[in-house]
Amino acid sequence: MRVLFASSEIYPYAKSGGLADVADALPKALSSLTDMLTVMPLYSFISKKGLTHYKSFKINLNKIDYKINIYTKSDENIKRYFVEAPLLSTTQNSYCDENGDYKNNDLRFGLFCMTIVELCVILKIDILHLNDWHTALCSLFIKERMLNIKTILTIHNLAYQGIFDKKSLKRLEIDKKYFTMESLEFYGNISFLKAGIVFSDKITTVSPTYAKEILTKEFGCGLEGFLAHHKDKLSGILNGINESVFNPSKDDKIYLSYDKKSIENKYKNKVEFIKKSKLKDQRHPLFVMITRLVEQKGINLVLKSLKRLLDKKINIFILGEGNKEFAKKLEKFSKEHDNFYFYNGYDESLSHCAYAAADFLLMPSKFEPCGLNQMIAMRYGAMPIVHSVGGLKDSVHEQTTKCGSGIVFNKHSKKEFIAAVERALKLKKDKKKFQSLIKFNMECDFSFKTGALKYFKLYIRVYHDISC
Ligand code: ADP
Repeated sequence: MRVLFASSEIYPYAKSGGLADVADALPKALSSLTDMLTVMPLYSFISKKGLTHYKSFKINLNKIDYKINIYTKSDENIKRYFVEAPLLSTTQNSYCDENGDYKNNDLRFGLFCMTIVELCVILKIDILHLNDWHTALCSLFIKERMLNIKTILTIHNLAYQGIFDKKSLKRLEIDKKYFTMESLEFYGNISFLKAGIVFSDKITTVSPTYAKEILTKEFGCGLEGFLAHHKDKLSGILNGINESVFNPSKDDKIYLSYDKKSIENKYKNKVEFIKKSKLKDQRHPLFVMITRLVEQKGINLVLKSLKRLLDKKINIFILGEGNKEFAKKLEKFSKEHDNFYFYNGYDESLSHCAYAAADFLLMPSKFEPCGLNQMIAMRYGAMPIVHSVGGLKDSVHEQTTKCGSGIVFNKHSKKEFIAAVERALKLKKDKKKFQSLIKFNMECDFSFKTGALKYFKLYIRVYHDISC
């Protein structure tokens, strides 16, 4: 089976969040099981060094010829393809700038999808694995062209659906017969993600719990009824991390590498980190949060609780980028409290240093399709404090002896969140117990091995038209 894995971001070429990590780790884990290829946009910030020109062709839309260049590269067992297209590759960032989402994202990612389908034909692809709304239109184009290519859509976050004005149908030459509730229409607009849900052969999401949650009003983002209609093809497979990228024993981004046996080096990372970030007392437990600054991640809850938390003997560090209002409030706290430091931005190296230094990771997400931070944290010997939701529920359990030992709270309230931090502080005082739990976590398998096998079985089922 030749499988093409299509994503709008793949680490290390482009990353805005967990999608890039998954798009790196999953194809790598699958490449020992089947013939894996990947495709992503060649954004303007990606260097062409090491890439070879593979093919050029034109895509005609509304009487305009768009010249497409495809570049390629071999990476371990994977053949990678990069799409250079007008609009898609000419912006400074992947999706947005300081004024918000790019206005022509419909055309940018519509063109990307048309190119992917063209590439599927050229490369004789059997299965096309789509990820999120950016690639979801491919399944519609495949049906339209009646190609014998099976499609799987993975939903990484239902909150992002690729909603555009219905004029986008014309801009992309999509027949207006698809402007119905059963197809692309979404409250008078169109949704790219809906195209993927309707026309893909299988739909997966990134954890078993989230697969159930998205069928409810609370988590369904308006698509719960629609998804319920397609639930026979929906399943949840828990994400994993790339254990080579996130490996404290071989991480050149951190101050001192360490493993379970040299855990004292983790403490040295903490001392260095506290010094550099001008936090207060290195003996106090260090809580970190590494996140996009969006409501989903529970920033409101953190802001509401911060004052009470900072009265305790603790240090808190937040690395985040996103909503300007949240950033402003966090910056204010940062100025007023010497045991709190907020770094406004996206910084891969700093995130590794924070995982390595931390005693605890704060992850009070309102909803969380899977979440990778908690797995990365456990691998680095930092204990996660999580709201019991989505993939956090599937991967973290309250102080257990099975893999994924952490602190879990059930109600998304200030009271429960603060109580969870207090449980963490109490546990930290019991040095022996705390150390044995974090060392146990460090040994656990958070890789994509199990998940990849499940995806592989799914590929086989769609390939052979096995319906159950
Ligand atoms: P999401 O995809 O919803 O943002 P995930 O938990 O699935 O959340 O993945 C987040 C990934 O992005 C992790 O690798 C995390 O370390 C990284 N990350 C998030 N915010 C930042 C940031 N401000 N700087 C550096 N890395 C970040």
